[in-house]
Amino acid sequence: MTMIHITLPDGTVNEYAAGITCAEVITDALGKKHGCVAAKVNGSERDMSHQLNQACSVEGIAAESEEGMHILRHSAAHLLAQAVMELHPGALPTIGPAIDRGFYYDFAMEPIAESDLKAIEKKMQELARRNLTVERVELDQESLREHFQHNPYKVEIIDDKLEAGDGSTIYKQGEWYDLCLGPHVPSTSRLMFVKLTSVSSAYWRGDQSREQLVRIYGLVEPTKEALKATLHRMEEAKKRDHRKLGKDLQLFHIDEDVGQGLILWTPRGAVIRQELQDFISHHLRRQGYSQVFTPHIGKLDLYRTSGHFPYYQESQYPPLVERDLMLKLADEGCSCSELSNLMKTGDIDGYMLKPMNCPHHVKIYASQARSYRNLPLRLAEFGTVYRWEQSGEISGMTRVRGFTQDDAHLFVTEDQIAEEVLGCIELVQIIFDKLGMEDYRVRVGLRDPDSTKYVGDPARWDKAEEACRAAAASLGVKWTEEEGEAAFYGPKIDFVVKDVIGREWQLGTVQVDYNLPERFDLTYKGSDGELHRPVMIHRAPFGSMERFCGVLIEHFAGRFPTWLTPTQCHIITIRGEHKAYADRVAQTLRDRGVRVEVDDSDNNIMKKIRNHRKLQPAYMVILGDGEMAQETVSLRARNGDQVADLPHQDFVDLLVHEIETKVTQPSLVPTQDE
Ligand SMILES: [Zn+2]
Ligand SMILES: [Zn+2]
Repeated sequence: MTMIHITLPDGTVNEYAAGITCAEVITDALGKKHGCVAAKVNGSERDMSHQLNQACSVEGIAAESEEGMHILRHSAAHLLAQAVMELHPGALPTIGPAIDRGFYYDFAMEPIAESDLKAIEKKMQELARRNLTVERVELDQESLREHFQHNPYKVEIIDDKLEAGDGSTIYKQGEWYDLCLGPHVPSTSRLMFVKLTSVSSAYWRGDQSREQLVRIYGLVEPTKEALKATLHRMEEAKKRDHRKLGKDLQLFHIDEDVGQGLILWTPRGAVIRQELQDFISHHLRRQGYSQVFTPHIGKLDLYRTSGHFPYYQESQYPPLVERDLMLKLADEGCSCSELSNLMKTGDIDGYMLKPMNCPHHVKIYASQARSYRNLPLRLAEFGTVYRWEQSGEISGMTRVRGFTQDDAHLFVTEDQIAEEVLGCIELVQIIFDKLGMEDYRVRVGLRDPDSTKYVGDPARWDKAEEACRAAAASLGVKWTEEEGEAAFYGPKIDFVVKDVIGREWQLGTVQVDYNLPERFDLTYKGSDGELHRPVMIHRAPFGSMERFCGVLIEHFAGRFPTWLTPTQCHIITIRGEHKAYADRVAQTLRDRGVRVEVDDSDNNIMKKIRNHRKLQPAYMVILGDGEMAQETVSLRARNGDQVADLPHQDFVDLLVHEIETKVTQPSLVPTQDE
C-alpha cells in the first residue's frame, strides 16, 4: 500500500494510504461535524469524494464561507433543475449559475407563474430529503454528446467547451445529471434550506435575437436559521429601498424628460442634502479648508493635460463643440462620421462636461506662485460631475449620470502627507459617528510590487503607503491592505459601511496622487529657495451627495434623526378654533430655525395623523382645547407613543437642543414599551 503525506491547514502533516478521499481526511482532522461542503487540494477546489494519490495539502471549505456558499448555490441550481424536470418533463435546462446572493436556472419551457414556484420548491425539498449522492463522472467527448443529444442548448455549450479544451464532466444525482465542472456538495441533503424567490424571462446567451427562456431565482443557506435571517433581511431591504422611500417621502424625482440618472432634488430631499453639506462644511472650516466654486465645463485641452481626454470617452458625455468650429468643419465637407472620428481620436477643440473636479482645482493652485508657507492648501467644493453610465447600470440615487462629490484637493509637501491623510480620515469618523454608522471598514489600496504601471519614485510610494496604513490603523476599525488596488498614480483608502441589515456600501476614497502635479507642472518654493513638486490628495469620503443620501435613506429606513428630517414638526389642530394657537406655536419654532408644517384643515384628527405619518416627521404636535388653555403641546412620536401637556416654551427649547446636538433619533417622547 502506498502511503502519502497530507498537510493540513494548521501545518500538521499526516500519513494516509493513497486513494483516501478529501471527506475522510477532513473528518479525521475536524471530526464528523466538520460542516464542510467541499475541499481545497493544493489550493484548487475539489469534491469531498475526490481521491488523493500524492502528497498534497488539504483544507475543508466550510458551507458558510464565501467559497462554500458559492458551491451551495451552484448545487441548489442543479437541484432546482432536477425538480423542474420531474414536474415539467418537457422542459430543457440550459444554464444555472450561482450568483451574488443566490442562484438561478434558465429553462426552455412554457412560461410559468410565481404561484408555480411553491410546488417546485416542495419538490426540491423532497429531493434533498432523499439524500441523493452527488457524483462526478468523467466522460469522453462522444458519450458526452450522447448524454445531451436531446438538448440543443447543452449541445451548443458542449461544442464551445470542447473547442476551448475545457473538461468533459457531468454531475449526477439520482437519475438526473448536468454538464458541469463542479465541485458540488456531496449529497442533496445539504440543500434542505432552499427558497425560490421569483421567476422572470431571459434570452438564451443574453441575446435578444435568440430563444426566450424561463429564469427561476432562488436562495439557499446552510441552516434553517440562516435562511430565516436572509429572508428577513430581504424583506427589510425591500421596505428600505431608497427608490421606494424617495417617492413615499417626496425626497427626489427622476424625470424621463430631464434624463435617466439625473436626480431632481425636491424640496424635502434638498433639506437633507443641505443639512449634510452644512454639517460637513462646518468640519471642513474647522480643519482649515477653503471653499471654492468652479464651472461645470472645461476646455478639452484642460482634460488633455490631465489625461481624461481623449481616454475614458466611453464613460463621459460627448464633447461640446463650438458652433463656429462645427460650421467651419461642415463647410469643409466634414461628414458626421468624420466628426465622430475626430472626437474619438481627440483631434478636436471644444468643451467637456466635467467628469472630475481635480483639473479645475489644480488651476486654482497654479493661479499664484506658491511657497512652502502656503502648504497645505486645502480646496473644497461640492462639485457636480457627469459620467456616462450605461442605462442598464443606472439605479435610483446610487448609480447616476450626474452627481455632486463632497470633493476636496489638498496640495501638500511630501512630509505633510501622513498628517493630511489622517485629517481626512478624522472627518469621516466624526460624520459616521453622528449618523450612527458605527460599523464600517477601511481598505488600503497598495501597489502590486511586481507591476511597473505606477508613476513616481518607489521610495516616495513607500512613504505614502505607510502614511495610509498608519491612518487606517489609527481609526480603531477593521481595515485591510489590498495589494494591486492602488491607482497607478498613488495609494488610496476606501470606506465601506455596513448598514443595519448587514449590507455593505462602498462610499468614497482618499487618494494620494503624484501624477497630476507632474502633468500640470505644479511647483512651490521650498525653504531652501528651490522649486519643488507638491503632492495632491484627492478626497471625497462620502463619494457623492446622491449616493450618500441614497444610502442614508436606507440606513434610517426614512426615519431620519431630527436634525436631518425634512419637516421636523407637523402641527395638527383638532378643530378650527385652535388655528391661531397653532400659528403662534409654529412661529416660535420657525424663529428658532425649526422646520414646521401646520395642518389646520377640516379633516378629522385621525385622518390628519394618518396623512402626516406617511412623511415621517420627527414629531407631530397635537393642539386642542386643553393645550390652548394651558399654553402646552401634546407630542406624538413616529412609533405612536405620546406625551401630553408639555409647556410650550419647554418644548421649543428641548426640540432646538435636540436638533443642535444632532442626536441619532428623536427622544422627546419617552418610549412606552420599556
Ligand atoms: Zn453545474
Ligand atoms: Zn480629484
